[in-house]
Amino acid sequence: MAHLYESRKRILVTGGAGFIGSHLIDRLLRDGHEVLCVDNLFTGSKQNIDHLHGEPRFEFVRHDVTLPLYVEVDEIYNLACPASPVHYQYDPLQTIKTSVQGAINMLGLAKRLRCRILQASTSEVYGDPTIHPQTESYWGNVNPIGVRSCYDEGKRCAETLFFDYHRQYAVEVKVARIFNTYGPGMHLSDGRVVSNFIVQALRGEPITIYGDGTQTRSFCYVDDLVNGLVCLMESSTDLLGPVNLGNPAEFTIRQLAQFVLDETRSSSPILTQPLPQDDPKQRRPDIALATAKLSWTPRVSLREGLKPTIAYFRSLMQPLVLVTSRGYGAHHMAGLKASAYPAGGQV
Ligand code: NAD
Ligand code: UDP
Repeated sequence: MAHLYESRKRILVTGGAGFIGSHLIDRLLRDGHEVLCVDNLFTGSKQNIDHLHGEPRFEFVRHDVTLPLYVEVDEIYNLACPASPVHYQYDPLQTIKTSVQGAINMLGLAKRLRCRILQASTSEVYGDPTIHPQTESYWGNVNPIGVRSCYDEGKRCAETLFFDYHRQYAVEVKVARIFNTYGPGMHLSDGRVVSNFIVQALRGEPITIYGDGTQTRSFCYVDDLVNGLVCLMESSTDLLGPVNLGNPAEFTIRQLAQFVLDETRSSSPILTQPLPQDDPKQRRPDIALATAKLSWTPRVSLREGLKPTIAYFRSLMQPLVLVTSRGYGAHHMAGLKASAYPAGGQV
């Protein structure tokens, strides 16, 4: 058993009750680690981690990362931050504080503990990109005063803090730039495009395409993304990032709507609505760096990944059916009410 204890780490996941965080926690527990989940439950929910109740290697602390945190851990994944435009624009000041003050607090913790820390950054640091696909060397095209800026500039400042803590205090940092990720475990009222379209299709309501639907995104299935995060965390000390993590297959939003209609066999009509301010026109990650340094490439195509995601949302709409699509444990988010959600959402 000695080898088990030597390789077992105590890992802090901030934002662990959210969509990606809860999948990451399942993976870390499967790998034999202990996990401390810290979350203020703004967009995350206890239902996301309910299946871990009674698991001796798991602990949950309700805490806001804008406040200092004193815990003892071997590694930190910093994911705390609302990620859907609807939710990060609900309280923009709290969003920017979460990214900036949250990063300062978590980096301070990593500095004291001399432990490795990974930041969940975002493709939003590229803004509305003028080069395509986006490489890590591109500095971006971000509006500093628009409605998306609380998120985009907050995440950009967090990246700066990560690199300054590395240069000034030799903190071992890793920065992942995550591109649009989807899968089971998203909130019914998440408000992002994949979940909106699926929920609308399943309810027979109009599919809301913002703008003319020619804008593009590249969608990564959550299991692939979590693999990438773990590979980056475990990579050699000299790889700080930023590293793009996403699926390079690019689709227009109109194509996504058609896929969802096909897969759900729904006859929902399409309804066009105004394009929100500063909505990026095109987005596709160049993942050459992740492939070369981490031997990582996503495996799940959009068509494949939509199937379990649709099955998951279908089961949410039938509250008595237990959702079993999660790898670790079972009944995830069953029966969650949209009304429990702070910002209401758009679905
Ligand atoms: P999510 O909203 O489901 O999860 C975010 C979690 O952070 C939630 O559980 C929320 O309650 C928690 N949180 C928010 N503010 C907090 C605070 N002040 N203190 C403590 N906890 C707080 O979103 P997600 O999709 O799981 O995103 C996770 C991370 O990945 C975020 O940092 C996001 O910016 C990043 N990211 C996600 C995507 C994506 O497509 N899903 C893309 C790029 C980056
Ligand atoms: N979008 C849409 N209908 C919706 C939600 C989103 O057409 O119901 C569009 C949105 O305008 C954007 C794209 O889908 O062009 C992706 O939006 P999302 O909120 O998922 O994430 P973003 O990549 O913009 O942060």
